[in-house]
Amino acid sequence: MKKTQPQIARCLCGGVKIKILGKLRNVINCHCKQCMKTHGNFAAYTNCLEENIVFMNKSTLRWYSSSNLAKRGFCNKCGASIFYKIKKGNSISISAGLFDNPTKLKTDTNIFTKGKLDYYKLDPNLRNFSRSEK
Ligand SMILES: [Zn+2]
Repeated sequence: MKKTQPQIARCLCGGVKIKILGKLRNVINCHCKQCMKTHGNFAAYTNCLEENIVFMNKSTLRWYSSSNLAKRGFCNKCGASIFYKIKKGNSISISAGLFDNPTKLKTDTNIFTKGKLDYYKLDPNLRNFSRSEK
């Protein structure tokens, strides 16, 4: 059996570089207004337990409290949107675009499609939720 290599994600400048131990969730595209504004488009997030993240570098990581419930991690050098974190939760969402091929990730869901802007179409083959999954 081949041992699974830990997956590595990094921002453009490398000021934030992480290794993920264990499995990553399928990718969810979030179309809410906050993701649109902070990512410049809808956000594609995978997710894992926060304890499974090992920081190889976090010198440029900063946090923005985007609501009472959640905060967003970004790089203050290259501007990358990196994390979405429910403050009281034990998991953390990671921008899927920070990985390299083969990502072994698969997009399966759109959420908050109510907030979607009109310049793009949703993939009808994905699960679509007008708000959150619940
Ligand atoms: Zn950076």
